[in-house]
Amino acid sequence: MRLADYMAECLLHPEHGYYTTQVPFGAAGDFTTAPEISQMFGELLGLCLAQHWLDSGAPARFTLAELGPGRGTLMADVLRATARVPGFHAAAEVTLIEASPALRATQRAALGTHPVTWRDHAGDLPQQPLFLLANEFFDALPIRQFTRDAAGWRETMVTENAGGANSADGTQGAGRLQLALSAPAPLALLEHRLADTAPGDVVEYCPAAGPIMAEISSRITRHGGAALIVDYGGWQSRGDTFQALRNHAFTDPLAEPGQADLTAHVDFAALAQAATCPVAYRTQGEVLTALGIAARSSALAARLTGPALDTHLAATRRLTDPAEMGTLFKALALHAPGTLPPPGFA
Ligand code: SAH
Repeated sequence: MRLADYMAECLLHPEHGYYTTQVPFGAAGDFTTAPEISQMFGELLGLCLAQHWLDSGAPARFTLAELGPGRGTLMADVLRATARVPGFHAAAEVTLIEASPALRATQRAALGTHPVTWRDHAGDLPQQPLFLLANEFFDALPIRQFTRDAAGWRETMVTENAGGANSADGTQGAGRLQLALSAPAPLALLEHRLADTAPGDVVEYCPAAGPIMAEISSRITRHGGAALIVDYGGWQSRGDTFQALRNHAFTDPLAEPGQADLTAHVDFAALAQAATCPVAYRTQGEVLTALGIAARSSALAARLTGPALDTHLAATRRLTDPAEMGTLFKALALHAPGTLPPPGFA
């Protein structure tokens, strides 16, 4: 099967899928995301959206949406930070796009009594102004992977090792999953990458990302709003970034299907190309710094001592330092035609 089909089964299979069967985040889970590292992440992004809402004339009704909210920490921080922005909560209809029933329950608990609607797809978002967040959502969407071969491409496939041929005792490895490359073929969707790749180069393509970007950007274009998309990756897909994380360590993505988090780096050029509205692109470190993380960090630090202070200062560094998440993570902002980018993206 294609890598994308393998990823989809491993992550979202109703009985055995990684996201459907467990709550994989936080210190006890397999990986830690920015909102789980510090409350400052959600506070700053929430106030960024609220300021952009004010700058857009404070529409009386809008969707405050998040794609793949995980434990609900980011939205909880956004709601707490924006509670004192006059009219913002009264106008916001909170909508979460979440595939996992287990995580929906966790999100419900995280958001207390705040009214929330869950939807399955970005296409289900109402036709009204949209202010949307997505952190580490696009990296979890299945990718197809291709290796350049002359003017064509060979696709990475997951196959079952039949045993015998390449194992010493003829049985070892039988039934194990392994990667293989399909026969080379020309591919219209990667035509534009022939100019900047050479034979042997690997390029990844996320089929689900484009349609989601089209749904979001069409609402922002027609009704106004903004979207903030944060993830690890770069401007264009290059190289093999398919990876598995378990217990905060990299592991073999084929070894335990459904037990590890499978992801790939996000191709922000592909997201930007699929958007039908203006976009702005910066590193996470640049955006958080422009939004005032230094001032917020100092204010929180003033109330802390000892190990709590050390943890807080380490979290600030982790979110912004180029050697940590600061430059590996990028932020893409979508905004309506004829409007300025949201604060932090100018
Ligand atoms: N944003 C959170 C969690 C990131 S993990 C954080 O920063 O901590 C990815 C999230 O996206 C999980 O909530 C997962 O269940 C959800 N998800 C993955 N694929 C999805 C899909 N196709 N549709 C909706 N939600 C999905």
